[in-house]
Amino acid sequence: APRPETAAELFAQLRGPQHRRALGRAITLLESTQEEDRFQADALIDLARSAAEHSRSFRLGVSGTPGVGKSTFIESFGLRVLEKGHRLAVLAVDPSSSLSGGSILGDKTRMEALSRHPAAFIRPSPNAGHLGGVGAASRATVLLCEAAGYDYIIVETVGVGQAEWRVHGITDAFLLLAQPAAGDELQGIKRGILELADHIAVNKADALPAAARESARQLRQGLHLAPPRADGWTVEVSTISAHTGQGLEDLLERLDHYAYRMRQAGIFQKRRDQQTVAWLRESCEQRLNAQLLAFLRAKYQSSDGLQRIIDEHSSLSSAVNVILAEFIKTTNLS
Ligand code: GDP
Repeated sequence: APRPETAAELFAQLRGPQHRRALGRAITLLESTQEEDRFQADALIDLARSAAEHSRSFRLGVSGTPGVGKSTFIESFGLRVLEKGHRLAVLAVDPSSSLSGGSILGDKTRMEALSRHPAAFIRPSPNAGHLGGVGAASRATVLLCEAAGYDYIIVETVGVGQAEWRVHGITDAFLLLAQPAAGDELQGIKRGILELADHIAVNKADALPAAARESARQLRQGLHLAPPRADGWTVEVSTISAHTGQGLEDLLERLDHYAYRMRQAGIFQKRRDQQTVAWLRESCEQRLNAQLLAFLRAKYQSSDGLQRIIDEHSSLSSAVNVILAEFIKTTNLS
């Protein structure tokens, strides 16, 4: 069997003419659940991180309820992004994967024109088994795409509450898609999610123009109830059509303007720095948790072993103390 590539070799290929295939392999490595792949994956992330310091990429999170038109939007918006000369990567964060083990965003038939475009790279969501968790895999995937020369990154997720936060935590800007709907349906968009958005677009304005305008008005009203943002940015609500392309050019400009403003104010980099800190935190938690579970399995084998510890101690908290003291003594965080 051929010797597996080292992280340095793979990284060099990411920067070379075969970068697209290298990127696929690099992401597979990141998402590997094999303990022995972790060393290479970590080395690759470090290389990508140092390269990313000089990149001027833009990372856009896109979210909305199923059927709102996310894939249709990303396809037609993405083609416009490509027309501007960007290289575009589209990644998906699938909130269901940790529950079902399956991917709902990996559908090959979506975004056909984009997936054929030589300057676009489309990647369905990582699987849940990943060693560092889905969040860490997505962050690292963004960096790898940037290392491979993609400078416009769209991270898509289905809006179900949890996933939006995750995507917000790895992107520079967050776009919420909504659709023409009755007021009570709009209220289904949780206030917290509304406040995550840097821009809101009501899609399908071609089919239901009046309803789209009305929805936009209501969303604006909802936004006005929120306190003004500390960064001084005004969140706008626009009406668009992913089908006809109406409003997409303006949206692209608005997001460019956002990126420009945030860069000028130093907020852009600050947000990325905070995200790296969050990444570090999550990585610590993940590693520690994995070690603890392995320790419990090895030392106490089954629930019977833990039951014994409970029986031997007068309180649950002293049982916890004993177990953790033992864990800290034996553990060797490698
Ligand atoms: P997703 O589940 O959010 O990815 O939504 P899809 O992109 O799969 O779109 C759901 C449905 O809405 C499909 O039947 C699309 O053709 C339709 N759709 C998406 N965008 C538009 C639009 O701008 N106008 C109209 N009329 N239909 C749209």
